[in-house]
Amino acid sequence: MNKFDVAVAGGGLIGASIALELARAGLSVGVFDRQEPGLEASWAGAGILSPAPENAATIPLVPVGKASMALYPEFVRVIEEISGQSAGYRPKGTLQALFTGDAREELSTVIALHHGLGLKAEPLRAADARALEPSLSEELEAAVLRPEEASVDNRALTGGVLEAARRSGVQFFPSRGAEAIWREGGRCMGLQLKNAKIEAQWTVIAAGCFSANIEGVSVFAPVRPAKGQVVALRADKLKIERVLWSEKIYLVPRNDGRILAGATVEYAGFDKAVTAGGVEQILAAAIELSPGLAAARVEETWAGLRPDSPDHLPILGPTDIDGLLIATGHFRSGILLTPITARLVREWVTQQRVSTDWERFSPMRFLSSSSHGAPA
Ligand SMILES: Cc1cc2nc3c(=O)[nH]c(=O)nc-3n(C[C@H](O)[C@H](O)[C@H](O)COP(=O)(O)OP(=O)(O)OC[C@H]3O[C@@H](n4cnc5c(N)ncnc54)[C@H](O)[C@@H]3O)c2cc1C
Repeated sequence: MNKFDVAVAGGGLIGASIALELARAGLSVGVFDRQEPGLEASWAGAGILSPAPENAATIPLVPVGKASMALYPEFVRVIEEISGQSAGYRPKGTLQALFTGDAREELSTVIALHHGLGLKAEPLRAADARALEPSLSEELEAAVLRPEEASVDNRALTGGVLEAARRSGVQFFPSRGAEAIWREGGRCMGLQLKNAKIEAQWTVIAAGCFSANIEGVSVFAPVRPAKGQVVALRADKLKIERVLWSEKIYLVPRNDGRILAGATVEYAGFDKAVTAGGVEQILAAAIELSPGLAAARVEETWAGLRPDSPDHLPILGPTDIDGLLIATGHFRSGILLTPITARLVREWVTQQRVSTDWERFSPMRFLSSSSHGAPA
């Protein structure tokens, strides 16, 4: 009960997927969560699967994003088969709408950037884009089609992963959050809970934006919450097939007919309030991109907290404390990066080597010599 091969702190999509992979590799795994697992960022996300960089800072993510994208169909197949639940995977591509006056120039820049990174992207004239997606605004100047991108219903996927992990032997401990890592000398012995110690050969910290609150972790994972608000719409007369983007917003169609519009990026601490200003910003941009949405019903609003790191890149891999691994900081791409994260952690735990270079994401990169004292 209190001893595992692997103890995971955090039962979101990242922690649960790591646990599933390790259990399927034959290890005993316990997942400790401070509440019911799966109800934080992994529940709140939009589920876009896009390895394209949003800006220059995220270019280092492209290779792992592509690797994770390639794993997705099989990942979903395994989850659906074991759990018996659909993950709402939609490999239908995404379409980026360009509205600026110099759209032609922007189009060739965007296409060249994608091709330079080995990402498939096709330029579209406005009329061709509107033929594919008739809901798009007539103000559209041009568009970029990324046919290999996809989306997934992350709530359904997270539920499926949790169920698949349970069925594969993972033990979950809701309402049993980690207070600290249990450290003895240069070794992590497991997790320290409120009234118990959990012994494990390997300890994985996957507590999303809350990871830095676990004592002993913040030097490796100085994450902070980046709030995102989302509005779910339903428009009976309007059909959106692919994920649509403008520079202000994305629209994500779900299999059940809902269209998610999102998302804000706000640094407001651990606050998850939906605000009038946030909803106004989302709805204005959504209607600008797809004017027919003005008649849509608002079905649900929510906010979630993305785990952001100082350089906005994930924090993945071993630390200089034996047996302690970090898997967080996935910021805006955690749903995309789940399969590759689970695979790399499983490879490290079972073989102490990885098939995709993860050095760039090392938890050791934030460490300054003064911040990492000897254990008390
Ligand atoms: C609005 C929004 C839109 C997004 N859209 C996308 C998208 O389109 N595509 C994409 O790829 N990504 C997207 N993301 C990002 C993605 O959702 C996250 O990167 C990902 O879900 C992080 O997963 P996680 O398991 O690390 O964290 P979480 O899902 O937050 O899970 C962390 C878990 O740790 C638990 N925990 C907290 N403290 C402790 C403790 N002390 N001990 C034990 N457990 C603890 C929590 O209860 C929780 O269950 C979006 C996020 C948001 C908020």
